[in-house]
Amino acid sequence: MQYIDGQWTPGSGGTADVIDPFDGSVAATIGQAGPDDVERAVAAARRAFDEGPWRTTPVAERAALLRRVADLLVRDKEEIARVETRDTGKTLVESRIDVDDVTAVFRYYADIANEDAGRVVDVGQPHVLSRVVHEPVGVCALVTPWNYPLLQLSWKLAPALAAGNTCVVKPSEVTPLSSGLLVRLCAEAGVPPGVVNLVLGDGPSVGAPLTSHPDVDMVSFTGGLATGQSIMRAAAATVKRTAVELGGKNPNIVFADTDFDTAVDFALTAVFLHAGQVCSAGARLIVEDALHDDLVAEVGRRADLIRLGSGTDPASESGPLVSAAHRAKIEAFVADALADGARRVAGGRRPDEPELQKGFFYRPTVLADVTRDMRVIREETFGPILTVERFTTEAEAIALGNDTEYGLAGAVWTQDMGRAHRVAAALRHGTVWINDYHPYVPGAEWGGMKRSGNGRELGPTGLAEYQEHKHIWHNTAPAPMRWFSGDSQVEVES
Ligand code: NAD
Repeated sequence: MQYIDGQWTPGSGGTADVIDPFDGSVAATIGQAGPDDVERAVAAARRAFDEGPWRTTPVAERAALLRRVADLLVRDKEEIARVETRDTGKTLVESRIDVDDVTAVFRYYADIANEDAGRVVDVGQPHVLSRVVHEPVGVCALVTPWNYPLLQLSWKLAPALAAGNTCVVKPSEVTPLSSGLLVRLCAEAGVPPGVVNLVLGDGPSVGAPLTSHPDVDMVSFTGGLATGQSIMRAAAATVKRTAVELGGKNPNIVFADTDFDTAVDFALTAVFLHAGQVCSAGARLIVEDALHDDLVAEVGRRADLIRLGSGTDPASESGPLVSAAHRAKIEAFVADALADGARRVAGGRRPDEPELQKGFFYRPTVLADVTRDMRVIREETFGPILTVERFTTEAEAIALGNDTEYGLAGAVWTQDMGRAHRVAAALRHGTVWINDYHPYVPGAEWGGMKRSGNGRELGPTGLAEYQEHKHIWHNTAPAPMRWFSGDSQVEVES
């Protein structure tokens, strides 16, 4: 269903099946947006922005609405988590954490929007008032990927609304269900018609016309590199603002002074959470020589013990991949690496259990003896593949950590704090963890360097992305300037 100008409509683009990745069954059949729906959604958002009153609503009222959305998320947590698990395949434990995180993001932006303020610039002239004010950008297209559908949407929607923008949301066609639930909660909370609109469909037929639409002022996109590049190219035509959050090829660097059990544990968590379908997954384990062989052996042994299963089974530690097509991509990565001489330490195959045969499962895979030219090292796999490389010196570790066109996230493990902070400073990645992996908080910025993107989400910068910072100069005592003296023959004062 599309949500346009406060109304739910099936959409004129036919229907599409949403597949449950656990068993390949049809989880839902949903209406798709046609070109006219995209037009209507953008027009509704444009009208709601231009005619108001959303953008001039006192910020305290907008913040109160965001808090109401957060309260409704708490109320519906279990239902939303189950939908997210059915749609993405991730475990229910992970989906519940996602809903909690989404709730925290709405509360965070309610809080900081309330405190957000422009500033007075003292220009040293008593008759001049100079102010920088924060205004919304306008109509924002919010386009999200399939791995964290709800979470990624919240990182965009909460700050966009807090800042007074109007939005057209386009979730991934692979996992669209939870976005509909969040939009429904926004409506229930009292967000006015036209302020949040939802269109469903794939990239070419819905994403592209939406993000290139001349009446859209800003595109916030999370997804793959190639899609991000095409959105930026299209945005150039009307000089839209873009905030793109793209992939990662993230190094997890372990020095030999790290506690062995902790290193093993986090090597697994860093990469195999959500079956490796995480933009910041620590897919490249980079290990100091002295620890390398033991760590590879133990990580491989433990990877083989990971229990795959249905996301709703409390015994499952990992769900399936999101689709058959994605699993085929992962299988090709592994096949290429093995053909090029990589050593399979764990996984590298589908599971044997009869009950997992209908789903898109793939065993957590560990590959050693990899080389820098292999595709599995250079490209983002976005799946349950861990590669292991070795280093001897700190400089080598840094060089390996930065030897990627991406720059999203990475970690360094050592007990030497001087070294930890030297390496953290040298890594060109948007987030660096020291002796940890994966934590993030709504108050700290998230985003990539290099080809991992040009935007920042979360934190105060995540709000500023959705604002124009406008300068208003007020001369309270205007008088002729006489720059052009004309026939008055009066000289310009210097
Ligand atoms: P994708 O690029 O295939 O699709 C993302 C979204 O863009 C979907 O909604 C899709 O329908 C839409 N889209 C596709 N083509 C489009 C076009 N031409 N114009 C406009 N929209 C279009 O990405 P995906 O496979 O859904 O997600 C996986 C990628 O997302 C990975 O690369 C992952 O690293 C990245 N990701 C990044 C972050 C981050 O914070 N940097 C977070 C999550 C995922």
